[in-house]
Amino acid sequence: MRLRRPFTALFAGSAAPIALVAGHSLENDGPQQRPTVVKRAGAGAGCGPSAGNAICDAGLCCSEGGFCGTGGAFCSGPACQLSYGPGCDGNQVPAGTSTSNTPRPKFGNVPYGVDISHCSVKGQVALTFDDGPYIYTPELLDTLKRNNVPATFFIVGNNAGKGQVSDPTSGYTPIIQRMIADGHQVGSHTWSHQDMNAITPQQRRAQIINNEIALVNILGVIPTYFRPPYTRCGADCYQLLGELGYRVVNYDVDTRDWENGGANSKSVYQSIISQSSPAVSQWLSLAHDVQEFTVHSLAQFMIDTAKNLGFQLVTVGECLGDPPSNWYRDPSTGQPRDARGATPPPPQRVPTTSSSSTGKSSSTSAPKPTKIAETNFRLDAPPITTSGTGGNTTSSRVVSSASSRAGSSTSTPGVVSTRVPDIGGRRAVPMQEYIPATRVGGSVTLGLVLGLACMVLFWAGG
Ligand SMILES: [Zn+2]
Repeated sequence: MRLRRPFTALFAGSAAPIALVAGHSLENDGPQQRPTVVKRAGAGAGCGPSAGNAICDAGLCCSEGGFCGTGGAFCSGPACQLSYGPGCDGNQVPAGTSTSNTPRPKFGNVPYGVDISHCSVKGQVALTFDDGPYIYTPELLDTLKRNNVPATFFIVGNNAGKGQVSDPTSGYTPIIQRMIADGHQVGSHTWSHQDMNAITPQQRRAQIINNEIALVNILGVIPTYFRPPYTRCGADCYQLLGELGYRVVNYDVDTRDWENGGANSKSVYQSIISQSSPAVSQWLSLAHDVQEFTVHSLAQFMIDTAKNLGFQLVTVGECLGDPPSNWYRDPSTGQPRDARGATPPPPQRVPTTSSSSTGKSSSTSAPKPTKIAETNFRLDAPPITTSGTGGNTTSSRVVSSASSRAGSSTSTPGVVSTRVPDIGGRRAVPMQEYIPATRVGGSVTLGLVLGLACMVLFWAGG
């Protein structure tokens, strides 16, 4: 255990000197303003909008709280500020051949680059799990196998400081390969779970391409299904996803399993899918395999409830009537490719970077994923309902019933559309929140006490 943040950074008001360097910012367009003179910041100094748009030195990360440093507390996605932290996990490129030049022919009948929130095959329920893989995912795979139920996993390649999924030392590669072997569908959920509306066009493309490189390393194919984090994807985002050959999958059943430990998720799920019979309805459900409750309890409940109502549990591709060969494309030709017959390239060890390089064993035995600070995960809350008070104009997602899908209503009995905390958005967070207890333990307390003592002595002596 070691405190990664220097003493000066513990006190937000005492910003370290920042050198002024003429030049260009790392990213020159998008929502973040381009400074005319770029400030550079070393370890412990302020960075980002709260520090005059200062950009951390090479290899350093700009934490969500606006300080330069290294390690998971500073570098993990999606919190690390990509435009100001060159070392952010979200800025790292996985080893392997780039898919930037892969042809993107559009095949099958499921449309590309548009919002798909509903299944089309009546009598089916597609369970989807986002933000993994994580340490709980193998147990979920066991549950699904025991029930002979396929599901869909939207993979994030390098979030929450868990390491790059295609790095053999991360322990996640065989878990994703097992998903395919067990008959599940794998889609992309970006490289580091960024809000696609809050990053630059170049960063947005990299979020897609980097996850493709990692998944090609693991599976030998590129998914054609994608889910945007937080369901946030503006016109530019949809256009890009269309160009890159993605079906953009959202959902019409939000279990809200991230809220209060999943306390209401079972009743929410049950109330929605029991609204109408399998003869006239079909559902696309959202949950998260990074949630312990979801894996230990909710998954089995969702399976039992759907089966007892007479629904068939399938993958997203199946509930859209899309054959498995269309769920992926060949990284060389871009043509449809069934993942079960694909061969990934030989494993490649990624260069050691930021939080990905921490705590991983170099042992030749099969590595196991390690538990990390789970507060680093930023789960997919539905967009905030339009407030009418200005500022946030994100439209609400009303979870719809079969009747509303037929156009009869957009306000459905038994369906909840409420204001929720926008846990995906940027928010000012005191620096203390940034040091996960599992990473630094008592060092934080010790550092604060010693730091305060030093200041008192210094002032008393002066
Ligand atoms: Zn997500």
